[in-house]
Amino acid sequence: MEELDIESRLVKFYSSQSNLVPLHAASGHFATSHSHINYYIDLTSLKTRVDEAKEVAKLIESGYRGSNKIIDTIVCMDGTETIGSFLGQEFEDHNYMTINKHETIYVVTPEYNRNNQLMFRDNIARTIKGKNVLLLMATTTTGQTIRRSMECITYYQGTVVGVNSLFSTIDSIDGTKVDYIFSPEDLPGYEAFEPRNCPFCKKKIQIEAMVNGFGYSKYMSF
Ligand SMILES: [Zn+2]
Repeated sequence: MEELDIESRLVKFYSSQSNLVPLHAASGHFATSHSHINYYIDLTSLKTRVDEAKEVAKLIESGYRGSNKIIDTIVCMDGTETIGSFLGQEFEDHNYMTINKHETIYVVTPEYNRNNQLMFRDNIARTIKGKNVLLLMATTTTGQTIRRSMECITYYQGTVVGVNSLFSTIDSIDGTKVDYIFSPEDLPGYEAFEPRNCPFCKKKIQIEAMVNGFGYSKYMSF
């Protein structure tokens, strides 16, 4: 019997923090750039549906309320720009401090250069240099992408004042706290393995798709 495709296997899971924002996940054998996992986590609707992105933004903001954080710039990774825009609006509505001259929050996203390094062009780098930056991610398994992104922001002379990943298996990296909406506790049975210790690989079960913060791809490696 042929296996159902990923889309039709997606099941809804809710965060313990809110019953308004569900994540979707399909079980199977998937590979990220640094690990193998038994669930593909799909955040597409949270990232692309205006109503859900707005709810996510509200939830993220509520986690920082009263923290007296100064936030000048939101750096969006993994296609989180829609959420980032609403989040900037939430921060402004709740009178978060900013050192920006125009007292508004910047929402930006880096590029990958030819060597697959993160970079900001000069016109965008101005929104990082000397600014307090909140880093927004979609999914975090090992934290390597957070580390790379933080290095990039530091290189452009920004200060990372917060890291938020919609789904995260870790709560800190290199001493920096990682805030999240969903954790493996919200996804019963979720497991991540080092590729060489992956039980699916040991049983010669094929990898179904490559996944990263953007989503999944059956035919492309990265
Ligand atoms: Zn594997």
